[in-house]
Amino acid sequence: MRVEPVALPLAEPLDTARGTMTERRGFLVTVERDGATGVGEATPLPGWTESHDDCRAALERAGDAGSDADALAACEGAPAARHAVSLAFADAAARACGVPLYRYLAGGGSGDVAEETTTSAPDERVERLPVNATVGDADPATTADRVREAVSAGFEAVKLKVGARSLDADAARVAAAREAAPDVALRVDANGAWTPDDARRALDAFDASADVAYAEQPLAAPSLDAHAALRGRAPIALDESVAAVGLDAVLSADAADVVVLKPMALGGVDRTVAAGRRARRAGVEPVVTTTFDGVYARTAAVHAAAALAPLPACGLATGDALARDHAPDPAPVRDGRIVVPQGKGNGVAGPHDE
Ligand SMILES: [Mg+2]
Repeated sequence: MRVEPVALPLAEPLDTARGTMTERRGFLVTVERDGATGVGEATPLPGWTESHDDCRAALERAGDAGSDADALAACEGAPAARHAVSLAFADAAARACGVPLYRYLAGGGSGDVAEETTTSAPDERVERLPVNATVGDADPATTADRVREAVSAGFEAVKLKVGARSLDADAARVAAAREAAPDVALRVDANGAWTPDDARRALDAFDASADVAYAEQPLAAPSLDAHAALRGRAPIALDESVAAVGLDAVLSADAADVVVLKPMALGGVDRTVAAGRRARRAGVEPVVTTTFDGVYARTAAVHAAAALAPLPACGLATGDALARDHAPDPAPVRDGRIVVPQGKGNGVAGPHDE
């Protein structure tokens, strides 16, 4: 197993709860199995995953492990490290089998998925997946312009950030977005900014002017019962809660209509597919998104979503967030849909193809 530190500059600085980021640092993991090379990516994002140092330490332990199972076990508690190691194994195995990664994942090709009931046919070809456009946070006129641009580029779902402005200002932005695009699926993401009282008022105001497809993470991550109580006002999607308390706690509390699954935070694409199936059995729709990762992890997230297809528009169109990448992007977005690579493994050109 080879572990290489990497850093990718962001196209624009990204504000997170832990400060402003200007680059995505992480590790590439390369393995050789059955005559095939597999590449995995760990792009830790503190707040969602372990720290960069803890990720490196876990990858060192994995590199010293005597078996693949021990290497994965060495990454427990370090989801970004486990993401890299499990992806490298799955990429190599899918290449050795001559199938795209999503077919390998859908067929229960790795440990965590094999424990789950297979619900999608592994033979089914998935060509493209709907993705959402990110409209961000801007004044009503700019928001309306961005929504119109997204719709004319073919996107059927757009996502607005809310919660940073007053409730009245957010309500005006959401109303402007709806006026600009009567049919688009409108999603709002508050990233846990609201109190329960704020959330009730905001969702009622949005409901009066715009039918929102869902409100993502209205309240702080641990508030499961309070999220459950909001579900009558608008469909509720939980993102930070899944990373903070785990999918099973979210499902048992009946806290969500939709769960946002981030492979880097869940510890791998195998676990993401298993989590998506578990959610669906509980009547909750999964959506797969990235954590502003490099091309190996981003494309793997596309495969995880394809293994769960059909599913609602996913947050997979994030390649533009990087100023530079490890390799060309094999999953371009066309007409609001991301292309699922059909070559062997993850489908990213790299050391395998030399
Ligand atoms: Mg979110």
